[in-house]
Amino acid sequence: MFARRLFVYFSLSLLFSQVTPGQSATPVPSLPGASTAVAAPTPAQPQITFNSVHVEGPYIALTFDDGPNATLTPKLLDLLAAHHFKATFFVVGQNAADHPEILRRAVREGHEIGNHSWSHPNLAKMSDEAVRHELQKTEDAIVAAIGKRPALLRPPYGSITANQKRWIHDEFGYRIIIWDVDPLDWKRPGPSVVTSRILKETRPGSIVLSHDIHPPTIEAMVATFNQLEAKGFKSVTVTDLLALAKPLPPKPSPSPRASTTPIPSPASVSTPPVTTSTPGG
Ligand SMILES: [Zn+2]
Repeated sequence: MFARRLFVYFSLSLLFSQVTPGQSATPVPSLPGASTAVAAPTPAQPQITFNSVHVEGPYIALTFDDGPNATLTPKLLDLLAAHHFKATFFVVGQNAADHPEILRRAVREGHEIGNHSWSHPNLAKMSDEAVRHELQKTEDAIVAAIGKRPALLRPPYGSITANQKRWIHDEFGYRIIIWDVDPLDWKRPGPSVVTSRILKETRPGSIVLSHDIHPPTIEAMVATFNQLEAKGFKSVTVTDLLALAKPLPPKPSPSPRASTTPIPSPASVSTPPVTTSTPGG
């Protein structure tokens, strides 16, 4: 019930937010005139946050949040195995602690486990200490289950501040994984709708969000996996997808937006304090 109320809250807050998840991960362009004033250029910061990547090949990452679930996650693992798809499970710590055997099976079958916090709060509204506690407790549960630290964090609702991204990356070493395909399966629109949304939006390099705690989502994955496979897609873990990433080729012409605003103002290039995404995740 608590999570449901948060979903409603973020559905409303989304109406007032123009921020796209992960945008703040875009490297900040140098300010006009800075090149002559600064002796040594600042080396590019490694990218911390990912919504999708550019790959050469049919690779995608299917991701499932909020589990594991005692009955649904094993069913999903059976489906994934039938298609030789690898997935990434962003687990809620308290569920991971309840079902360590499901995490062990997932890892044994080639899937990845990521941190999705202990109790699914909105991290952007919490103190650093409270966030640290949520992440550490979950990491401990994952290590207890599979003997390995997670490398990835998906913040609940995709909600995380730029400052949190930095210190979480520094302290935990996590890369922050959002998504570019969101079928809104948690609203339970019906399996065929979930399937068609995923098929319509998924392209090479996509990170697809779904939740392995809703029966219709698992039902939807039967047709979804069949059709993704028919289209030639191969699902790999998020860490493997990031390793396959290639730099984006240069664009042939400037975008219309760039041509009307050639020089970004400092305000437009600065990172927004809070990145609030769609209520999924
Ligand atoms: Zn979630």
